[in-house]
Amino acid sequence: MKHNFGAGPCILPQEVFKQASQAVLNFNDTGLSILEISHRAPEFVAVMDEAINLVKELLNVPAGYSVVFLQGGASLQFCMVAMNLLPEGKKAAYLETGVWAKKAVAEAKLFGEVEVVASSKDKNYSYIPKDYSISEDNVYFHCTSNNTIFGTQMHSFPQTNVPIVCDMSSDIFSKEINVADFDLIYAGAQKNIGPAGATLVIVKDEILGKSGRKIPSMLDYKIHIEGESMYNTPPVFSVFVSMLNLRWLKAKGGVAQIAKENDAKAAALYMEIDRNPLFKGTTAVEDRSKMSICFVMENPELEKPFLKYAEDKGCIGIKGHRSVGGFRASQYNALPITSVHVLIEAMQEFAEQNA
Ligand code: PMP
Repeated sequence: MKHNFGAGPCILPQEVFKQASQAVLNFNDTGLSILEISHRAPEFVAVMDEAINLVKELLNVPAGYSVVFLQGGASLQFCMVAMNLLPEGKKAAYLETGVWAKKAVAEAKLFGEVEVVASSKDKNYSYIPKDYSISEDNVYFHCTSNNTIFGTQMHSFPQTNVPIVCDMSSDIFSKEINVADFDLIYAGAQKNIGPAGATLVIVKDEILGKSGRKIPSMLDYKIHIEGESMYNTPPVFSVFVSMLNLRWLKAKGGVAQIAKENDAKAAALYMEIDRNPLFKGTTAVEDRSKMSICFVMENPELEKPFLKYAEDKGCIGIKGHRSVGGFRASQYNALPITSVHVLIEAMQEFAEQNA
């Protein structure tokens, strides 16, 4: 049995895989595969509607916000956000908490001025900066809620009148959020939403249409909203499987319930990291991510043997990103706590053998 701690694309529920594979052969008893029907067929339009409604329901999206499924990954959002929201000659504030935030900064600079209000680069992005202010001449403030590579997570967001744009790629649907605190939220699907290919955007309608810039249709949020995520052919399979995954989440009790499970999984693994003399965490304790758990070994020479030991127990995807080293256990929604227990046992056994 494999325990998939991969950072993304990542584990999804087994029952979602089964339903998805069934629909590849015969979708809703149509006698056709989900892969061969028109995206304009009523059966698929119903899938898109259900996916969007599940997003609204699970996150309590208030009136005045639109939900769309786009393509291009979260990386295209780095550019689309600035292109749609940042008028030429105006300024946006960015919080630099890692590789993805830096990429977002670089893209925004193509469209206007960027003020990096704070950065945790001085300590290899191992914490979330807290002492900074966002001046009101910024059109928006951009932050990354969970830093997938460095294992930090924003457990609170700044109080500001400046609209907040947040890259929630690696923690959306993992815990409750107040959508009204944000003006634009985006996330690549391939963590807690579904398979790679779709990108979720939740945007407050009133912030759009103010850039004064001509925007190519495919990069214009308004066009996709008006087209109800079907301006062009959407990534049908990714949206379909995302819908199945969100149904699974709803049936489980929604975001409040999964948040409890995610808390328990993270607490268990951090407890072992802190207790086991062979291991240590890499991030500031108060900023520890509940999704992306990064740790190293006191003796780096043991890291390769431990990786092999854990892999032999079925724990895969735990090798840390090269910019942090060591290990990263991604504990997304679909990862059962039993998998976390297997990893913890491997750490304990390895410590006994290397005492
Ligand atoms: N932002 C964050 C926080 C991410 O974790 C990732 C990918 N892991 C990205 C952006 C880039 O996403 P994509 O590959 O969908 O462009």
